[in-house]
Amino acid sequence: MSTKLTLKVASASLIALLGASIAGLEPANAAFRDCLVAGEYRASEIAETQTLCQGVSSSEIALKFDESAPGLGFPEEGQVAIADFAAGAAFSEIVLVATEHGSVGVLEDGVSFGDTAATLNNTAATAYPGCGGSQFLYLPWTWTTTWSWRYNPSSQPNAGALVAIQEAANLWTTGVNRCTGIPYTSTFQNRYLGTTTRAGAATSSGTCGARDGFSVISWSVMPYGQTNGILALACLTPYGATATEADITFNPAYSYYTGASAYGCPSGYVDLREIAAHEVGHVTGMAHSDPALLQLMKPNFGPCETGERLLAPGDIAGLLNRY
Ligand SMILES: [Zn+2]
Repeated sequence: MSTKLTLKVASASLIALLGASIAGLEPANAAFRDCLVAGEYRASEIAETQTLCQGVSSSEIALKFDESAPGLGFPEEGQVAIADFAAGAAFSEIVLVATEHGSVGVLEDGVSFGDTAATLNNTAATAYPGCGGSQFLYLPWTWTTTWSWRYNPSSQPNAGALVAIQEAANLWTTGVNRCTGIPYTSTFQNRYLGTTTRAGAATSSGTCGARDGFSVISWSVMPYGQTNGILALACLTPYGATATEADITFNPAYSYYTGASAYGCPSGYVDLREIAAHEVGHVTGMAHSDPALLQLMKPNFGPCETGERLLAPGDIAGLLNRY
């Protein structure tokens, strides 16, 4: 992939452990490093490190794929933006944090916060995706209340989208293990409150705008078109370690399969149930797990991955450990 990802940083900084700003944002296994003055980071550098900057406003820095394209902005203060990219993108995912105290962070896969990361080794590899090993990693918040959300159907691919999203969301409360068929039940609760005309927090630049007190799932075009852009974005507003609002935006520039059957996904379509279940995983507080292990919380998505729309052993272990 020739596309370069660069991170431009507007001012010098010290290492900023964000735990001082958002309670619970204490990296468990991160080796944070300084941001460089006007630093430009290639995708390969970003992918191997975690970079946090202090003393820069979120509007001062952006992630750029190339000089001619608009950069990804950072979220409004106090927000966390999780962008999931389509397969083939220069970058599979990225988590952007902006605290209310002027710290801005880029968090990479493989970083767990708060709770100890757990890796379960299931040596009984099978033909099913995600059953040859399992892992979960956490983001620094949990829900102590029901996540109540509204749905804005504007730009949805078809009328089946809402049901697909609802069923995907419910998988974080009850479902069956994709590998074993064994049922599970957690205490995480979501409630669908009906449709709305409210916009979600996502902006056209692919980041999270201001919180508005309403959790909304919606459809909105985000960078960068259909070849390597953002598939979905989760915008989360933690208050300390407690989640208070979570918006999910899907990018309608892609084609989505909304069918209930694992068969029949048209070539090149993305399985909405898989993506929606993954995004709700972020809402619950799950971070990305090792891409090689193919859990639902893996970091990138190809077309028609209907065999991966259910929770895998690591996803379930992480869920039940918290809820
Ligand atoms: Zn993700």
